[in-house]
Amino acid sequence: MKNWATEEVEILTLNCHLPIADLMKLLPRRSYNAIYSKIRALDDNNIKPIQAKSFFNEKITSLADVDEYIKYDLIQCLECGKWFPFLPVHLNRIHQIDSIDYRIKHDLPAQTPLAGVKYREMHRAKMNKLIEDGIVVHEHLKDAIEKSKFAGRGKRATYELDRQRENVTKNQIWLKSPRTKVGHK
Ligand SMILES: [Zn+2]
Repeated sequence: MKNWATEEVEILTLNCHLPIADLMKLLPRRSYNAIYSKIRALDDNNIKPIQAKSFFNEKITSLADVDEYIKYDLIQCLECGKWFPFLPVHLNRIHQIDSIDYRIKHDLPAQTPLAGVKYREMHRAKMNKLIEDGIVVHEHLKDAIEKSKFAGRGKRATYELDRQRENVTKNQIWLKSPRTKVGHK
């Protein structure tokens, strides 16, 4: 049995959300079983980045917490405390929860990426290439972003609402809005 090369492990971890059949195309030297066992082994091996703060059994209570939560190459699963490059597949497979419900449950803003920095960078590069090649058009992307923003579920984390309320009170927007009348006439 050949040892896994660093590049192979990297390809595997960055693409761990793909079905194993697709991973076999990216890793032509590996069998289905080899890839499956390696994924299991890596799952048990993914350790916390040294400087990262663990939010397992802790609450996310501010936007600063969110920044800290998404700032490392691996991101922590708040359901079980393990660390991954990409969370959604793990959430679905192991905890039977989707990304939207996960964000609501842990009070994360709706647009919080559920992937580590390295993974996000790789996908940004991939997406830019598709745009460059004309395969993905900007307008479609904008539509998709708008749609996901207003999808209805999990729009704002509670601490975001607090901040919004403060801003509204501070700015007294009802005095400026032509649609609201103050007092009786
Ligand atoms: Zn988990």
